[in-house]
Amino acid sequence: MRSPSLSYAGCEEPHFLEACHLCSKSLGHNSDIFMYRGNTPFCSQECRQEQIGIDEARERRCRKASKKPTSEIKKSSTIQTESLVMA
Ligand SMILES: [Zn+2]
Repeated sequence: MRSPSLSYAGCEEPHFLEACHLCSKSLGHNSDIFMYRGNTPFCSQECRQEQIGIDEARERRCRKASKKPTSEIKKSSTIQTESLVMA
């Protein structure tokens, strides 16, 4: 029995420097490639700028989310552990 997924297994991995990270447009060897964070290629400044914006927004959300609820998470996890022990 031949599984079709097996023959495609080698092609599913993302190919660095071959496609834009944002819009998946293929990047030719002679076309301009805009790098971001060392190994993330983009076909244009616009795509790269958009990804930078996405990352910055995500990092801001993470920082805000991780700062405030840290103590709350600790409290609630303690409560959960206690209730688990009691149950
Ligand atoms: Zn692009």
